[in-house]
Amino acid sequence: MSERRWVDDSLFVDPSETTSPTLAGARCPRCSTTTFPYQSGCPRCGGDAAERIALPTTGTLWSFTVQYFAPKSPYRGFEPFEPYGVGYVDLGDVCVEARLTVNDPAALALGMPMELVTLPAFAEGDVRVDTFAFAPQEVTA
Ligand SMILES: [Zn+2]
Repeated sequence: MSERRWVDDSLFVDPSETTSPTLAGARCPRCSTTTFPYQSGCPRCGGDAAERIALPTTGTLWSFTVQYFAPKSPYRGFEPFEPYGVGYVDLGDVCVEARLTVNDPAALALGMPMELVTLPAFAEGDVRVDTFAFAPQEVTA
């Protein structure tokens, strides 16, 4: 594949940064509630002027599961289907739902450190469509 794009540019602070992206969240200036993905309205206080902020690129695994069968159409993924991990990663002020790079539940544990990475999600002709995911953080001994 010769080209790539993000599944949705608005998920990222700088969509032109393709190797170490940062997720774009929203923080309410009135009550400090943080949400992802970005939305101008605050679900807590009803404020409508949330600021676009860069979310941390590391967090801890809050919950996870493994998807063992292909979701119903219009699922767009690579064939043949391979089971994949899905989880919530706690970034401090917000929990983000994301694909996980690991699909072996024995290799995942609640509370383990995770880091933001990119992952090919599917292809559209010659274009590879990337999304974000979280991977167990490499711990240097
Ligand atoms: Zn608010």
